[in-house]
Amino acid sequence: MTHDLIIVGGGPAGLAAGIYGVRAGLSVVIIERAMPGGHAATTHYIENYPGFPEGVSGVELAEKMKQQALRFGVDIVGAEAKSIIKKDKSVVIRTDSRELEAPAVIVAIGTNWKKLNVPGEDELRGRGVSYCATCDGPLFRKRDVAVVGCGNSGIQEGKFLLQFVNSVTFVEFLPHVTAEKMTYDLVKDDRRATFLMNHEVVSINGQVRVESITVKDRKTGEEKKVDVSGVFVYVGLEPSSDFLKEVVELDAKGFVVVSERMETSVPGIFAAGDICSKAIRQVVTACAEGATAAINAYKYIESVK
Ligand SMILES: Cc1cc2nc3c(=O)[nH]c(=O)nc-3n(C[C@H](O)[C@H](O)[C@H](O)COP(=O)(O)OP(=O)(O)OC[C@H]3O[C@@H](n4cnc5c(N)ncnc54)[C@H](O)[C@@H]3O)c2cc1C
Repeated sequence: MTHDLIIVGGGPAGLAAGIYGVRAGLSVVIIERAMPGGHAATTHYIENYPGFPEGVSGVELAEKMKQQALRFGVDIVGAEAKSIIKKDKSVVIRTDSRELEAPAVIVAIGTNWKKLNVPGEDELRGRGVSYCATCDGPLFRKRDVAVVGCGNSGIQEGKFLLQFVNSVTFVEFLPHVTAEKMTYDLVKDDRRATFLMNHEVVSINGQVRVESITVKDRKTGEEKKVDVSGVFVYVGLEPSSDFLKEVVELDAKGFVVVSERMETSVPGIFAAGDICSKAIRQVVTACAEGATAAINAYKYIESVK
């Protein structure tokens, strides 16, 4: 065994699990393929995580979680888990460069952005098409941009963009905004915000960079071009659970089915956070599930010693 507990994914769920795991006396490694903090680290401002009455920037919250995990002795390794193999008394995680083995694993890999799957999206990705306003927003100073999707993420990140850009055209497939009222209230009266409800993006256009989008009114079928330099896509999230498919039970959408103890269908493999099949995906729920998974992983490890 290389460790007592391996955590795959260093977002809020994985970092909380790490903190609880080491504090229980386990040797813990987190495998993270990108930046610790997950989606929280790419969210401009988080106003609903308890303990921060004025809100907190996602980057700061993620950094604090990471520092807390490191302080207690969690090992954070930069790598992508490619496969997971359940053995008799252990679980093996393979990355491109190494193999890690422990009696228990917590899968906390979160979700990825869904794509629009329209012409121009892949071709102009990184050249005006973005999935992260917090990362790319400042590049669009004084430009006109579109935000696709009017859920909490789209509205929240659109509000962030309005600090820099000239205007934001929000495009929503449904006839209404689905964000919380308090979130929508932040932008609805901004004269630089335009709302195209019941519209879908048909294509993203441009030779070298994004120049416009073509949208279709879903009621009348009428199409029109909107001139924008950037398109920020917030049309939902999907699990990247392919490497778990043959190992643990997934629901019809590919999320991991867990018990209230965060156990998967396979003993020794736990899951926590947004990757789980559930209704609410928030930082506070991810952290709570990370803690629950680590406590139950500890009990499991003790029971199989
Ligand atoms: C735009 C936006 C705004 C949001 N705003 C809020 C908000 O205001 N308040 C709130 O409470 N919540 C908010 N959320 C939701 C919140 O960010 C998530 O619920 C939370 O981050 C989930 O944590 P997680 O650890 O389960 O997953 P993630 O944050 O998705 O972290 C998963 C991590 O696993 C890593 N990973 C994935 N696959 C692998 C692999 N194979 N190997 C290694 N590492 C891997 C990823 O790189 C990532 O770092 C927002 C989300 C978004 C997208």
